[in-house]
Amino acid sequence: MIFNSPEIPEHTIRAVNTLSVNGRIPQTVMLSGGNDALQKKCALELANAVMCSQLKNGVPCGTCSDCIKIKAGSHPDIINIVPEKDKKNVSKEQIDSLVLSSLYLSPNEAANKVYIFPDANSLSPVIQNALLKSIEEPPEFVMFIFLCELREKMLETIISRCVEFHLGDTLSAKIKTENEKVLNTAKDIVNALCKEDEFSLFLKTAPLQKNRQLTKQCAEKITNIVRDALTEGSNAPLLSGCELEAYSLARSFGTQSLLKIKDAMDIIQSDAAMNANENLLITRLSSLLAVIMKERIG
Ligand SMILES: [Zn+2]
Repeated sequence: MIFNSPEIPEHTIRAVNTLSVNGRIPQTVMLSGGNDALQKKCALELANAVMCSQLKNGVPCGTCSDCIKIKAGSHPDIINIVPEKDKKNVSKEQIDSLVLSSLYLSPNEAANKVYIFPDANSLSPVIQNALLKSIEEPPEFVMFIFLCELREKMLETIISRCVEFHLGDTLSAKIKTENEKVLNTAKDIVNALCKEDEFSLFLKTAPLQKNRQLTKQCAEKITNIVRDALTEGSNAPLLSGCELEAYSLARSFGTQSLLKIKDAMDIIQSDAAMNANENLLITRLSSLLAVIMKERIG
């Protein structure tokens, strides 16, 4: 089976493999969603499935010279369209020379050649338009694979000419960074509480300054850590993903104090939702926690 990854939706895996078994992989494909690494892996699997000279039940043999070169990243008939060194985006000149002017030239070694656009979202509308005619009626030995995080960023005319395979939810880099910030700030605050370190608590709440959204998300995260601390030792599944912090909390505070932390987080969340003054919000959070911190037991 190709596309055999747990992140990929079942229907996508089924569709791709049925097409591959029947030798009907479309000539113009868009891989959307998932993440960068998954997209690249799937693009190579698709390219491999159309290029392998001894495909078995839709799966590349892994041993023919095409398979070996694809695995080594050195197959001359896979053409990755990436920006030139020190450039941010693919240029129109590159499209002319790498794609348009050589489109009808036969493949070097395999029966097909595959153009992969690893970051299709960064292709300008001018470039997307320049490609339209080629992707609509490519020579029979040509395949195009567009990798894009967000299909909405592509021109409708491109989308409508591609067969799309969705690889699962996208967690964009920006969202990932924000989630990490929430996680780390919440952990830092919990650790300061457990150490009864008021100065550290003051420092660790600093990132929340003037950031209502982060304050709210941190309060939610801390609530989940407290919940995990309260159920520590039972078989309840962890909600927070912060096992160590939940364990420390459970060791440092009694049930009543933990419930007070939870109440304090509820207050912060509802204040944040009601658009309370951002600076008052963080002062309130610090002072609520500073009081509870004194109840530390171990
Ligand atoms: Zn092969």
